[in-house]
Amino acid sequence: MRQLGILGGMSWESTASYYRLLNQGVREHMGGLHSAPLLLHSLDFAEVAALQARGEWSAAGALLAAAAQRLEGAGATALLLATNTMHKVAPAIEVAVAIPLLHIGDAVGQALQRQGVQRAALLGTRFTMQEAFYRERLAERYGISVIVPTAAQMAEVDRVIFAELCQGVFSAAARAFYLECLAQLRGQGAEVAILGCTEIGLLLEGVQAPLPLLDSAELHVAMGLDWLLGT
Ligand code: GLU
Repeated sequence: MRQLGILGGMSWESTASYYRLLNQGVREHMGGLHSAPLLLHSLDFAEVAALQARGEWSAAGALLAAAAQRLEGAGATALLLATNTMHKVAPAIEVAVAIPLLHIGDAVGQALQRQGVQRAALLGTRFTMQEAFYRERLAERYGISVIVPTAAQMAEVDRVIFAELCQGVFSAAARAFYLECLAQLRGQGAEVAILGCTEIGLLLEGVQAPLPLLDSAELHVAMGLDWLLGT
């Protein structure tokens, strides 16, 4: 099997899901004692989040590019960057290595396209919801128009990600608030909701949501699995 490198720890809560889901996927496809050949470079998220908050994206890009080079040097032949937000610096990683970065925006965009979706709600960090790197990729490559909550709601969605989800806290209050945002976005014409932060699926696991949910982490894992299995 091919060997996949994961840039993780952003946060480790969701990287743990990537690890479990990739291994489950390999077991389902290959059976027996098969498991996923993975290399994990898990970063200290406090360091990364501090760079995000200070807007030091080129330093963040350099940090991830160096980690990607270490994975490549250790034998990874493709990379999964296990966070939506840090795909803001995907170009800095891509120029630093010769192996492909399996982009989370493509995993999401391809799934939306397969389902014939045109208008999707997006929840994620403030960077993912507001900035061009994610929304433009979905619009330009997949023709998806993205709608986001109000400015006040976006601030709370973002606060919950950093102050709760990335610290392993999954509260009923946060769940109710996220569902309320999704109900409003359905009212504005959203056909589905992109869980555009890799921890949101952990918060909304098993809930009855007002919109069909597309979990970026699950779709990204499926893309990694296709690559691992060469399908
Ligand atoms: N895991 C989150 C994401 O998918 C947030 C953590 C981060 O800021 O990288 O965007």
